[in-house]
Amino acid sequence: MAEKPELIRPHAIVIPLPFQGHINPLVDLAINLASRGFTITFVNTHFVHHLLSKTHSDANDHHTDMFSEARQSGLDIRYATVSDGFPLDYDRDRNVFEFWEYLLEQFIFHVDELVGNLVKSCDLLAYRLLLITDTFNSWHAKIAKKYNMVDVSFWTEPALVFALEYHLELLRKNGHYPPPEEKKEDAITYVPGVDPIGTKDLMSFLQEKEITVVHRFVFQAYEQIGNADFILLNTVQELEPKTVQALNQILPTYAIGPVNFSARDIKISKALVQQTECTEWLQSKPPASVLYVSFGSLVQTTKQVIEEIAHGLLLADINFIWVVRKNMVTDSDAADVLPSGFEQTVKEKGLIVPWCDQEAVLSHPGIGAFLTHCGWNSVLESMWHGVPMICYPFLYDQPTNRKLVVDDWKIGINLCDGEAVARHEVAGKIKMLMCGQFGEVSKKVSTLLRNSLGDGGSSCMYLEQFMEDMRAKIL
Ligand code: UDP
Repeated sequence: MAEKPELIRPHAIVIPLPFQGHINPLVDLAINLASRGFTITFVNTHFVHHLLSKTHSDANDHHTDMFSEARQSGLDIRYATVSDGFPLDYDRDRNVFEFWEYLLEQFIFHVDELVGNLVKSCDLLAYRLLLITDTFNSWHAKIAKKYNMVDVSFWTEPALVFALEYHLELLRKNGHYPPPEEKKEDAITYVPGVDPIGTKDLMSFLQEKEITVVHRFVFQAYEQIGNADFILLNTVQELEPKTVQALNQILPTYAIGPVNFSARDIKISKALVQQTECTEWLQSKPPASVLYVSFGSLVQTTKQVIEEIAHGLLLADINFIWVVRKNMVTDSDAADVLPSGFEQTVKEKGLIVPWCDQEAVLSHPGIGAFLTHCGWNSVLESMWHGVPMICYPFLYDQPTNRKLVVDDWKIGINLCDGEAVARHEVAGKIKMLMCGQFGEVSKKVSTLLRNSLGDGGSSCMYLEQFMEDMRAKIL
């Protein structure tokens, strides 16, 4: 019997990489697509689901999940979980390489079983299935092909990082990767759509000789990317015009960012760690007087680095909120991350929290600047709220994101210009940024981002184009 095209609805199975910075934007994208008529089945790992239920007050109600409120608003969002292969009490932070290895090689088997079951229970006459997953889930092409699904890859980092990874062969040919014995100081000038970039601004794994599971994650992701039917980039055309344009010429890319703000009327709690409420504390501070300090969900560093930052904050003598995660320091006990007596010394000037609602903090008028590790979500969130940044990148895409923020967009400064972070430099940089020097340009960038999502804005148009191209494909 012939299908009636008008009855066919897109049903997307959405599967993030199980890390906070990858879950957050995909949740927002899922809500946005649901509000445009998609049916969504959002899939978290059983471990992520466990963490989410611990941070929710209604944890014991088995009928709720992170999308309960969205469903009450009439959106068709279903929820499923999949095993990540390890028991709940397995320490995924301490065994991070083993965990990643499993995600890279074995996670596909759990996903396959789940997707197979979802497909069986789906009315395939009424729905056409899409798989929307993180670009780093390199199994997307195999699963999508096996179940005849439209394959949509979601890239959570800037287009610049995408282009450098996609054109890795060019870096190999020109002797920039693997990093040569004798460090090459010449700029990389040959990547299509990419302005000359120094080797120190490449992603951390392109600056390392040893091949780890992180490299294999990236290599496999880019071996498979050409199979995707659609590639959604969490960036904005006006921020990276040449790079976005160059990618558009070779791949089905759509710059639809920042997706983090495209579903604003439905608030979803995504925190995997119990959040501390900061608004009341912020209310007691003058406008633009507080520095927000956070290094995201994954960065681990040494006690020495934390000490220098702590003393830098004291020397700068400013108000601050600092997110200090228990597992942030590798060479010390969780209970002993900060210098002894630090919290007593700062008194009401500083609020130290294990996790906060970052978006709520950044949107508060009390915030004057953000000392950040330059995770891409943090960069987008800071830009959205017009908050200038002090950049202290650690690893992955963070050094490359720093280059965009400081060198290209000029909405921030580096924390340290030398190798090691030192307290006096920290204090000096904080004072420099808190005096409001970047206020105007940060506001302009904020407006640019907001306009991109508004009617007729570039990201809005790309999303419309994606919807149109996707419908043409499924009908
Ligand atoms: N975040 C938060 N509360 C915190 C710290 C971070 O809600 O106390 C959120 C932040 O808003 C962002 C995400 O966690 O959406 C971190 O992602 P990002 O890409 O910045 O860094 P990653 O954790 O991936 O290194």
